[in-house]
Amino acid sequence: MNRRDFLKKSAITTGATAGALALSSTLKPLEVEAKGFGVKEHKGKTFYDVVETNEDFGPFSQHDTAFGRAYDPNHPYPLPPTFFQVWDAPKEHDKLGENVFDNAMFQGAGLNWGDTNNHYKLFEGKPNSVDGELYKFKNPKEASYYIKRAAKFYKASAVGITKYDENLMYKENIAQFKEQGFKPKSVIVMCILMDHEILKLYPMPIGMSGAALAYSNMAEVSGKLAKMMSVLGYSSHAGGNDWGISVAYGVAAGLGEGSRMGTLIHPELGSGFRIVKVFTELELEPDAPITFGVESFCTRCMKCADNCPSGAVYKTPKQFAPDTEEFVSAIKGVKKWGTDAAKCFEYWGESHCDCGRCITVCPYFKNDTWLHKFAKTAANTPGVNNVARYMDDMFGYGKYPTQKTYDDFWDNMKL
Ligand code: SF4
Ligand code: SF4
Repeated sequence: MNRRDFLKKSAITTGATAGALALSSTLKPLEVEAKGFGVKEHKGKTFYDVVETNEDFGPFSQHDTAFGRAYDPNHPYPLPPTFFQVWDAPKEHDKLGENVFDNAMFQGAGLNWGDTNNHYKLFEGKPNSVDGELYKFKNPKEASYYIKRAAKFYKASAVGITKYDENLMYKENIAQFKEQGFKPKSVIVMCILMDHEILKLYPMPIGMSGAALAYSNMAEVSGKLAKMMSVLGYSSHAGGNDWGISVAYGVAAGLGEGSRMGTLIHPELGSGFRIVKVFTELELEPDAPITFGVESFCTRCMKCADNCPSGAVYKTPKQFAPDTEEFVSAIKGVKKWGTDAAKCFEYWGESHCDCGRCITVCPYFKNDTWLHKFAKTAANTPGVNNVARYMDDMFGYGKYPTQKTYDDFWDNMKL
């Protein structure tokens, strides 16, 4: 299977294309509690308390995402039909970081990626299709604890829980759930960390192996959790990028804040992870949304916008996306930073790679480093935000990969 097939099968979305919903927290005065260093947990609040929405907010159509537009030549605003041909055509700069060995590793990394849809089919919510007698938890709090414990065992990098919300779903998938008689009450949202060393090679094609491995793991982790819940007698459904808007569900489940580039930023994992969900009829105790200064930091930083090779990340302030061609792939009725999904998607085609440069230049990309911790603190400190971006640049983070970066990945890694 080549990269194109992988992408078609799993509708991989990275960076701005994934981030049709570039949510950002609207820092309304809220009752907050500390949850770890610099992290505020908004107890008793929901998605709607930290994200500004209006009457236009509601289920979005997958047909209008960048992939939806690229798949359908009859879409009123189709993306260039040459996209997949461009993807396959050789380009001079792709000689760097694209060879038989790299491609072999990519194929291995994505081993279960092709099975992702099978996992999802296996665990689609169907009444009476559960694999065991109903196990009764004492209460939603107890159920949440054990489900989260299992998610960590299955190797979720982080896990949060929120209530099922049709506004955060894709239109088409709500209809599918209804056809199946599936009535989810809760959504378990999990982060799957990507390998930072290989991601640093973005936009060389080998960088895609990082996403491929994460997609493979997404299928494994979510499929296993959905299977476990089915054995406990609860109809459950695993889903990757499809079904629900991952960034929105991540915010709702207290896993992080939306960013300028459109992805979720987690207080510990930073920006280099993917999101997978399990929808379930089991009633669970929802987590509270969190904030830790991403709003303030992204307002000033702009590093993703400065480094985006296609100019897809806007520097403009947050706004409600207007109903214009430029914003066809942007979710309406939510105040957010803007990204141009079409520009991003077209660049992927030209570069033979899903790019991800915005994710890797982001100062939050470096999880567990002193700079990351400093950035978290600085983000809430007026006047210091710019220093964190400056220091990030000064230490050479996020530099465009060179032949040396590539050679270091293969030859100079301590094993
Ligand atoms: S850097 Fe730009 S082109 Fe690359 S994934 Fe991010 S938004 Fe898309
Ligand atoms: S690079 Fe800067 S502006 Fe962009 S998402 Fe990261 S912190 Fe926000």
